[in-house]
Amino acid sequence: MKEQTLILIKPDGLKKSLTGNVLTRLSETKLDIVAAKIVKVSRKLAETHYRHMKKKPFYEELIRYIMGEYHKRKVMAMVYWGDGAISKVREICGSTDPEEADAVSIRGAYGRITTKGVYENVIHASTNREEAEREIKLWFEPDEIIVDAYPTKIAETARHKKRVWI
Ligand code: UDP
Ligand code: MG
Repeated sequence: MKEQTLILIKPDGLKKSLTGNVLTRLSETKLDIVAAKIVKVSRKLAETHYRHMKKKPFYEELIRYIMGEYHKRKVMAMVYWGDGAISKVREICGSTDPEEADAVSIRGAYGRITTKGVYENVIHASTNREEAEREIKLWFEPDEIIVDAYPTKIAETARHKKRVWI
């Protein structure tokens, strides 16, 4: 079954110039990349993304990490699409803990644990379909994805203020 998954190259990955390496590894999956952008992560976006981690002792450090306070203030967000996308990508990412991750996985090869105990593990990938749907809808607008990832509707947004080019 075709499915989609959210991938983030986290700020440590961008700081360490690992984008090319990560994309090369991900291309082994033969999945389709259907959305990509560079994002400056706000606190609100960081907290919404990691809302399930709120009770963890390292939560504040994790929020700062994904906002780029320790590296570069940017994240590369992507959606990959295809058969078994979620598990194929997680396999290449490796375990959450970079020390436990397979040495040839992205996290095993490039991740580290900080002195404050945060796993700087280079990449985020959705773990299941529910998480993928929540995360893709959080990070992307429907028109930023070149496939119909989820059902959409036309909403009246004219009254909202929006920044435009001069
Ligand atoms: N994390 C951490 N220490 C832990 C568990 C998680 O620093 O003991 C961080 C790590 O960056 C991880 C993120 O919190 O990627 C989200 O944790 P989750 O359990 O969802 O792992 P993931 O799905 O990213 O493998
Ligand atoms: Mg997770």
